[in-house]
Amino acid sequence: MEGMNAESTSRARELSHAELARFPKVELHRHLEGTFELNSLFAMSQRNGLDLPSTFEDFKREVQFPKDSEPDFLTFLSKFRNNWYRSLDDVREITYESIKSFAADGLHYIEVRFSPEHFAIHNNFDRREITRLVIDAGNEGAREADVQLRYLITFNRSKQTEEEMLALYRELRDLDIPEIVGIDLAGDEINYPPELFQRFFKTVRDDGRFGTTIHAGEVTHAQQVWEALTLLGADRIGHGTSAIEDEKLQERLASTGVALEQCITSNRQTGSWTDEEHHPFGVLYRRGVNVTLNSDDPTIQDSDLTDDYAKAVRYFGLTVDDLVQINERTIDSAFLSDEEKRRLKSTYTKALEKFKQRA
Ligand SMILES: [Zn+2]
Repeated sequence: MEGMNAESTSRARELSHAELARFPKVELHRHLEGTFELNSLFAMSQRNGLDLPSTFEDFKREVQFPKDSEPDFLTFLSKFRNNWYRSLDDVREITYESIKSFAADGLHYIEVRFSPEHFAIHNNFDRREITRLVIDAGNEGAREADVQLRYLITFNRSKQTEEEMLALYRELRDLDIPEIVGIDLAGDEINYPPELFQRFFKTVRDDGRFGTTIHAGEVTHAQQVWEALTLLGADRIGHGTSAIEDEKLQERLASTGVALEQCITSNRQTGSWTDEEHHPFGVLYRRGVNVTLNSDDPTIQDSDLTDDYAKAVRYFGLTVDDLVQINERTIDSAFLSDEEKRRLKSTYTKALEKFKQRA
């Protein structure tokens, strides 16, 4: 960045958590279902008589993945419940409160993803109605938080067949909601590899309206990242930690600029990459791969995006300049038009100037 002096380039390490929290961030990989505002969630659980502890501390322990516990993918997944809600108002409230709380992480722009199935299934809400409702409530929360927000729709590999995905996709596409900018494939990547979803992603690509991001190489080998790229035409890859084992893949990623949406804390807890200090992020970054920093499921993880920034600074020696460069490349990888990216870069630069004045 122009105007950045030598002193500030080396100061990232000295920034306190509170200062780092204020650093303007662009995030591409966070699940709404994993980022619920905890007080609202507790209140909802009490109100709806869920079979969960009645004191906040015990509730917290039960619904989060304990910060210091051993990695365990299944325990991690078991924290995602879809029976919280009893009414549309419940969904509206938890979405609004959760997105409003994004301000605490210094988010400037975020593409938040959610699965309409998650919110609809317990009460069999209309999927189109629930999608619109989540987006309206999220937009209101984002205005409060002064965060620019877009949405990705998540499809789950093991919970929906390709046929069901296509049917839901067409219904949601026809709603013409401009804030939906991308399609995400999540869930069990071991038993449901990319090849099973080629027709779905061909349809999405042919429509040309949405970017695509595929969870791949999180708990599988680099081959699956290749398949996400070549069979599904992924624009971005969720996690892709296993890219570290394949130099040819790294070359391909570096030359095409396809972003890896990496999530250091999540990767430890799920067992995707348990040694945070040697997470592939640092090496991939130095090798020119477009790695982006994301939180994934901060409520489940008992963490926030700022924690992931603090880790990246501490473990990989990133400077403020590095953080700025990473965020600017993250903007390039957003599912926005060139004109929208240009505008986002300009508001991002202004936010950065403000941060530097106060730092
Ligand atoms: Zn994810």
